Amino acid sequence: MRRRALLVACGIAVVAALGVVAAVALGSGGGGSVTPRYVVATGGLQRLDPGADGVPATVAAATSTDAAITASPAAPTLAGKVVAIDPGHNGGNGSHPSQINRLVDIGNGRKACDTAGAETASGYAESAYTLDVGRRVQRILKQEGAKVVMTRTTDDGVGPCINVRAEIGNRAHADAAVSIHADGGPTSGRGFHVIYPTPLRGLTAAIARPSRRLAVDLRGAYDQGTGMPRADYVGHDGLDERSDLGGLNLSKVPKVFIETGNMNNATDAAKLTDARFRERAAKAIAAGIARFVEESG
Ligand code: ZN
Repeated sequence: MRRRALLVACGIAVVAALGVVAAVALGSGGGGSVTPRYVVATGGLQRLDPGADGVPATVAAATSTDAAITASPAAPTLAGKVVAIDPGHNGGNGSHPSQINRLVDIGNGRKACDTAGAETASGYAESAYTLDVGRRVQRILKQEGAKVVMTRTTDDGVGPCINVRAEIGNRAHADAAVSIHADGGPTSGRGFHVIYPTPLRGLTAAIARPSRRLAVDLRGAYDQGTGMPRADYVGHDGLDERSDLGGLNLSKVPKVFIETGNMNNATDAAKLTDARFRERAAKAIAAGIARFVEESG
């Protein structure tokens, strides 16, 4: 993703910087007897004897570090890609039990439309957390050129039901869909895990394999970007396969859930309630998605 653009820009900047060093060295080292081949003129470096020394023309064209970056915008790497972001739960779910407990078809059974979600001991609701992280992921992916479809954009509503959340990703023909959650696990349990769908004939058979790849990419990016440990109370090595989640069973596009930490654990909760951590989490999630989408071509 952006690292590619930055590498290109930095490469030009290094060449430009070397030009400055060369000019300084040539200009000062000979006691006035050596004519500098480059001067820092208004607008940047200018070559005095173009073509005579075999220096690539890009050096002459690079006017300054800043200009080199702004003058060489690499195309956003996620241009043309579609990502569905599903912030789990909703702030109104808890006060609307009849709507939320209504059973919906999840392909291999029936399950409640949605749940209220977890909350930290201090009362920070999972629904508020997932929307905050989801919006950050949305912002980052849009900056990279992706179209981002959100299943909800406010935290004062009810639902949508899990089957509708899956349908939103399907209708968008998303290249990847990620449902963002924070777990309500045992208070002694720490860490994050990524859930991918079991291959189910007629349901997830086609998306199970790419979904697992998305899970592995997300796990790696979350490992690197957040320092949150892999869950020690569920799954295996930060991954879990499940066949009981409607949001996965009904998806026709590669999809995973990421349980970004355990709201019931005091150490995890201290991170989840910190906006700086949420920004790191969002960057990591966006990086994992970008890696998957780029690999998928
Ligand atoms: Zn949840």
